[in-house]
Amino acid sequence: MNMPAGLSALELERYARQVCLPEMGIAGQQALKGAKVLIVGVGGLGSPLASYLVAAGVGKVGLVDPDQVSLSNLQRQILYATRDADRPKVWAAKARLEALNPEVAIVGHEEALDASNAVRLLTGYDVIADATDNFAARYALMDAAWRLGLPVVHASLYRHEGQLAVFAPGEGPCYRCLCPTPPLTATNCADAGVFGVLPGMLGTMQANEVLKRILGIGRSLSGRFLMVEALTMRFTEIGMAADPACPLCGDHAGVTADFPAELPFYAEADDLELDAADLRDLGEVTFLDVRDVPSAAALAGARPAPFARLLDELATLPVERRYVLVCDFGEQSRHAARMLRAAGVPLVWSLKGGSRVFEGLKR
Ligand SMILES: [Zn+2]
Repeated sequence: MNMPAGLSALELERYARQVCLPEMGIAGQQALKGAKVLIVGVGGLGSPLASYLVAAGVGKVGLVDPDQVSLSNLQRQILYATRDADRPKVWAAKARLEALNPEVAIVGHEEALDASNAVRLLTGYDVIADATDNFAARYALMDAAWRLGLPVVHASLYRHEGQLAVFAPGEGPCYRCLCPTPPLTATNCADAGVFGVLPGMLGTMQANEVLKRILGIGRSLSGRFLMVEALTMRFTEIGMAADPACPLCGDHAGVTADFPAELPFYAEADDLELDAADLRDLGEVTFLDVRDVPSAAALAGARPAPFARLLDELATLPVERRYVLVCDFGEQSRHAARMLRAAGVPLVWSLKGGSRVFEGLKR
């Protein structure tokens, strides 16, 4: 029997259930074998993501993570067993993934990705998966990938909400079009808690986007921002547009031939945040409480509009009205306002200082 180029009889047997799919075939399997994917973060998202990519036969999978396995990871990081506690994640993951599929080359990088090493780590890969749990790594990864012309399949989590998007040069906006600067304060899973099955869902959906991209099939999430709410199983999609003022991909972005250690975080669009004095000039506004609290606990004088339901809430309100978003400290509301602007809602602002300032307003 003649074997298709590069695939052994054992590989054909291993991948038989997907090779028979018309959109896949032998050519698709060969494309997977030729592909190189870097997974940044081998935690709750990275566990199912790496498992599905390795099981499907992606030729080379790189893993970046500086952390060790801890007992409190095991509730969601399904690559690891109890005996892996205190082992570096990348090496425990590599052993587990090699046992799953010895045909795949697994490369471990036991280090934290940051602006100083991002270009080195990303170079040589075709697709980057953002499964990080911190903004320093995320922004360094996004900047380096964009400049190297590499697509990023991004997912992130907060308690029982997840977000998924693809940022691909030449196809749509970059991550900084949506979130130009990192928030000053951010909570991660360790602080906020996370519903264990949610990273499983999002990481699996990330693997879906990576495989589609390698195979050139289906419709990419590029240019679309998907929000998943695990408790209600509501999936909300927002169209994303590139921002001409974006510091990374916009008209005046500082793109240079060499890679600066760090892209300077540029100031937020001046008109996105308002303080009490600005509010007086704005006239009549509708306040929306974007915090994740029950309606009964919403701020008096503000309409409850939790972040995850914000678009649905706005869809019921007149578009010509002016909206001011309020949260605890003004961080989540700033990001929400930024996102709504990107989604085409023009008259929306964030209240600087959050609920404390809101309570002090004379209305
Ligand atoms: Zn951009």
